[in-house]
Amino acid sequence: MSKASFRPELVNENSKIWANILNKLQIEFGEPTYRSWLSKLNLISAEGGQLILAAPTRFIREWILTHYASSIKSNWQSFNKSIINLDIIVANNYSATKNIKKTSNSLASKPLVNLELSKKVNDDQDQLSSSLEIRYKFDNFVVGESNQLAYRSAKAIAESNLVQPQSNPLFLYGGVGLGKTHLMNSIAWCINRQNNNKKVVYLSAERFMYSFIKALRNKDLIKFKEQFQTIDTLMIDDIQFICNKESTQEEFFHAFNSLINNGRQLIISADRAPNELLGIQDRLKSRLGWGLVIDIHHSDYELRLNILKAKLTQLKLSIADEVIEFLAAKITSNIRELEGALNKVIAHSTLMNKVISIENTKIILADLLKSNEQIISIEEIQKLVAARYNIKVIDMLSNKRLRSLARPRQIAMYLTQMLTSKSLVEIGRKFGNKDHTTVIHAIKKIESLCITDHKFNNDIKALIRIFHN
Ligand code: ADP
Ligand code: MG
Repeated sequence: MSKASFRPELVNENSKIWANILNKLQIEFGEPTYRSWLSKLNLISAEGGQLILAAPTRFIREWILTHYASSIKSNWQSFNKSIINLDIIVANNYSATKNIKKTSNSLASKPLVNLELSKKVNDDQDQLSSSLEIRYKFDNFVVGESNQLAYRSAKAIAESNLVQPQSNPLFLYGGVGLGKTHLMNSIAWCINRQNNNKKVVYLSAERFMYSFIKALRNKDLIKFKEQFQTIDTLMIDDIQFICNKESTQEEFFHAFNSLINNGRQLIISADRAPNELLGIQDRLKSRLGWGLVIDIHHSDYELRLNILKAKLTQLKLSIADEVIEFLAAKITSNIRELEGALNKVIAHSTLMNKVISIENTKIILADLLKSNEQIISIEEIQKLVAARYNIKVIDMLSNKRLRSLARPRQIAMYLTQMLTSKSLVEIGRKFGNKDHTTVIHAIKKIESLCITDHKFNNDIKALIRIFHN
C-alpha cells in the first residue's frame, strides 16, 4: 500500500481505535501516569504493519518507549493483528487525529501501578472477586484528621469476630483518590491474615455488574446467586457505578438483603453519601444507609506531608524537606495525585540524574500544579506552621503565652497577612478571637526578627516559598 494514499475511512477507524486504547491505558495505568505521559501522544498513522505515534518531546518519547510500548502495541493488536511495529516520532503539535475525544475517565480508579512495591494478586477473570493490591494494607495507611474515623471503623470491623448490626453495612464515602479502595483492601488482607476460613469477597461494582451480566448470558444465575450465600464479608467498591442499572441493582438488592439477614458483614464504598446517589432505587438507598455511614474528608497539609514521608520511607529514598513541604502544600486535590506527583518527581530526577529542588519540581509538575492552584486559606497556613513547629493548631489559636506557642502564632499571623487578602480584624478573629492590635504586634515582631536574625529570615522565606511560587 502506498504511504501517500490518503484513506479518510481508515484514518477515522484508526482514530476510534486509538481513542479506545487511550481509555484502556488510562484505566490500566491510572490517572496521573495517563495525564503525564500517555495523553501526550498523538496518532500519526497505523498501516502497513506499522503504528506511528507522535510525542511532543524526546524525553517523553524515550519514556514511553521504555515503559509503555509493549502495552500500547498489544492493545492495538487486539483490534488489529497486522500491526507489528510501534514507532514514536518527536513532533510537537502534530496530529492526524486532532479531533479525537480523549475521554477523561475519572472512573479509572485502578491503583497506580508504577510504584515498584505494587503487585497484583488474585486477578483471575473468572473469579467472583476483584484483585487486591498488595500494598493497600492498614500498615501503609497514614491516619490523619480527615480519615481517622474511616480508618478506625474499617479496622474495628476487620478485627472483630462479631458482626454488629449497627455497623452493617459499613458505608464509606468520599471523593476520588482519598483512600476508600485502600481501606477496603486493607480489611480483606487483615481478615485473611487472621482467619483463613472466612470468605471475604472484594468486588468493584463494575466487576459485580460484569459477573452478573455474564451469568445472565450464560444462564448461570443460580450459580451466581449461590456464590453469595457462602460469603462472610462482602465488599463492593464504588457502588455509584450501578446507578441506572436497574437489573444489576435488583440483583444486588437481593444479595444485600440475604447477606445482612444472615448476619454477614457488608462494606460498601461510594463517591457520595447514600441519599445523594442518583439513579439508585429509593429502597436500596435507604438500605445502604442503615448501618454505619462514614465519610473521608479532604486531606489536610499535615496528612499529605506524612503520606509523602511514609512513601519515601517505603521506597528508601530521601528528598529535601522543602520539596516535600512544597508538594504537600500544593498538590491538594487528592492522595492519588499527590502520589503521582511524587512518583513523577522521583522518576525525572533519577532519569536526569539531578537533585530534586523546588525549582525543577515546579517545571516537572507544571500542569499538575496549575490544576491544583488554589486560594491559600488561613487554615492551611495555620496547619503548615503548626506542623513545622510541632505544635497543635488548637494551641496556636489559644491564649497561651509560652514562647514555643507564641512565636509560631505570630509567624502564622504574619504569613496570613502576607499571603491572603484578609483584613487584620479577620485575621485576629481566625486566630482564636484576638484583637487586631495583637495581629499588628505579631507582624511587627516578625518583621523586626527578620531584620536582626538571618537564619530566622531564611526560615520565613522558606515558608513563604512553600505557598507562593
Ligand atoms: P479511592 O478509592 O478513594 O479513590 P484509593 O484508595 O485508590 O482512593 O487511594 C488512592 C491512592 O492514594 C492509593 O495509591 C492509596 O494507597 C493512596 N492513599 C490514599 N489515602 C492514603 C493514606 N491515608 N495513606 C497512604 N496512602 C493513601
Ligand atoms: Mg477506589
